[in-house]
Amino acid sequence: MEQVSEYFGSLVFDDKVMKSKLSSDVYKSLKKTIQDGKELDISVANSVAQAMKEWAISKGATHFTHWFQPMTGITAEKHDAFISPDNEGRVIMEFKGKELVKGEPDASSFPSGGLRATFEARGYTAWDPTSYAFIKDKVLCIPTAFCSYSGEALDKKTPLLRSMQAINKQALRVLKLFGNEDVTSVKTTVGPEQEYFLIDKDAYLKRPDLIYTGRTLFGAMPPKGQELEDHYFGVIKPRVQAFMNDLNEELWKLGITAKTEHNEVAPAQHELAPIFSTTNIAADNNQLAMEIMQKIAKKHDLVCLLHEKPFKGVNGSGKHNNWSISTNTGINLLEPGDTPAENAQFLLFLVAVIKAVDEYQDLLRVSVASAGNDFRLGANEAPPAVISMFVGSELEEILESIETGKSVQSKHANSLKIGVDVLPKLPKDTTDRNRTSPFAFTGNKFEFRAVGSSDSISCANIMLNTAVAEELKKFADILEKSKDFETDLHNLIKKTIIEHKRIIFNGNGYDDAWIKEAEKRGLLNLKSTPEALPHYLDKKNIELFTSHNVYTETELKARYEIAQEHYCKIVNIEALTALDMVNKYYLPALSKYSNFLSDTINNKKALQLDVSYEIDTIKIIADATKEIYQLKKKLENNLKESSSIKEFEQLSIYLKDNALSVMEKLRDIIDGIEPIVSKEYWPFISYGDLLYSVK
Ligand code: ADP
Ligand code: MG
Repeated sequence: MEQVSEYFGSLVFDDKVMKSKLSSDVYKSLKKTIQDGKELDISVANSVAQAMKEWAISKGATHFTHWFQPMTGITAEKHDAFISPDNEGRVIMEFKGKELVKGEPDASSFPSGGLRATFEARGYTAWDPTSYAFIKDKVLCIPTAFCSYSGEALDKKTPLLRSMQAINKQALRVLKLFGNEDVTSVKTTVGPEQEYFLIDKDAYLKRPDLIYTGRTLFGAMPPKGQELEDHYFGVIKPRVQAFMNDLNEELWKLGITAKTEHNEVAPAQHELAPIFSTTNIAADNNQLAMEIMQKIAKKHDLVCLLHEKPFKGVNGSGKHNNWSISTNTGINLLEPGDTPAENAQFLLFLVAVIKAVDEYQDLLRVSVASAGNDFRLGANEAPPAVISMFVGSELEEILESIETGKSVQSKHANSLKIGVDVLPKLPKDTTDRNRTSPFAFTGNKFEFRAVGSSDSISCANIMLNTAVAEELKKFADILEKSKDFETDLHNLIKKTIIEHKRIIFNGNGYDDAWIKEAEKRGLLNLKSTPEALPHYLDKKNIELFTSHNVYTETELKARYEIAQEHYCKIVNIEALTALDMVNKYYLPALSKYSNFLSDTINNKKALQLDVSYEIDTIKIIADATKEIYQLKKKLENNLKESSSIKEFEQLSIYLKDNALSVMEKLRDIIDGIEPIVSKEYWPFISYGDLLYSVK
């Protein structure tokens, strides 16, 4: 077996390959484009395309594709063969600069949120040279952005790249004030930790709810769930380990730095974490990782579930978005420094993030809003729907001492004068890590823990980058005019702490008392997706995105429409699936079982035997059947009524308050009788058999 270091990145047209395959002039101008976003000359593009094609063919590739991320949430690709006809009726392998730089997929079947009605139907894809091309299944995949002909973003990558430009621009202004003349670009970095479930494929195929919706709509808990806490970090089963080994190998070939793997809290739940990278690369890699996880699982007769809440009663899955800001000179701007100046700079970036999270709580909540994630946030297993920040006791004391000008009763902070005093050393995370906070400072980065496991990380990072860019802009506007930098800086940091400390909460986020306290502090509690989404279009948020050129107002409205429509479609599919299961399976099964019981009663009675068990059971089943029947009629009515609601805004609320809540009640009744019905008569595989399907 080859060593990992030999095959790592072997399917990626990365820096090393570029250096060896391109002339030094071409390499240099490509590098300039990658680092500073300089436009690429067509002759350079032609040379790059030529080298890329030769490299790809040498690795067995026959096709190429512009790989992009439409708003469906998954990736899209349309393969074109490299072949072109030559003059003698044969074919040659060809790939030109213009094919590398731009593609024209038919955009008409991707969601556009009305953008296509007002603008042209066709769209185009444009190469993102900052994310490396790679080979997947003999296809050279070129990461691209996807836009309409009039330039509206139709994907998740374009606004992410724009948000990275926004924060780059403002962070550079701030860094200049601190005399960092050597820094020419600033990028955000992300390491997304991905949670998922693995179950046996045969077990999966016995569950229409998993097949149609990705989650179970019914199912009583088995006698053993996660209460013994014996799965977390437990020994990995050989079949799962074989999957992980295969997965790592595929990911490593694609240059994805899969680093950590372990069992998670729930039975059958696992986690994969890569080493962090630049945000757009992290986003591309995470999309790719999710796709490959599902593919490799199939090879092992397993199914990888990425849904946020596949099983009621055990933990759901999230994606921890570890986020920081770095300079091209290799400095992590969220790392406290060693000198007073470095510390002052750190504190300014820190309070910028605090202010951003406070002022744009709604957007962070919106960025993680989905039908699936609604079952997780606030369910005492993931952070609540209230957005708050954890900074740790040491940092909180430091902020307090800046705010009050008084030394705090502790070794950590004397009365701190910014720009003069050195910050006390902060312990690096780990010890008092708060797992209940949606947004935790972990020593040199923030961990946004509310992101759903199946979501693209783009949206969360678009919001985060743009909100922080806005605060840095406001800070730069003030400080660039300053005559006494140190004093003004100190006052600005102090003022920001005073005005935004309400967002800091170091306690237990799962506690009900916190939700009440948060309300008192005026923090938002947007419990569900339909309640969160309208904030997309709040005046202050439109201003934010348009002023930083991340979204136009039209694009924002389109995103909002798509998110609402998506939510409604998901709930509708779930309701139809639930009805199907009730009508075709549960109700008939209960009738059959009652029949069996009543036959038994008659037979036993003839023998003058006791029939109290059968009688009691048949009564419970009869009562339950009646309720199920009523609820299923109610659900059918809900769907009928919902079809006349034209606006997604009303429809999503209607579906949440009616269809979803009826489905919950239906589930309670069905799950309630599952334990007393014979397994032989129960129509679906049980939770126990699903959760413990991988031996
Ligand atoms: P855990 O949260 O499980 O304790 P770690 O703290 O080791 O794990 O890291 C979690 C993730 O954070 C990893 O993907 C890691 O690469 C990433 N990470 C570390 N430093 C940074 C950074 N500066 N920017 C973004 N992500 C980072
Ligand atoms: Mg983590």
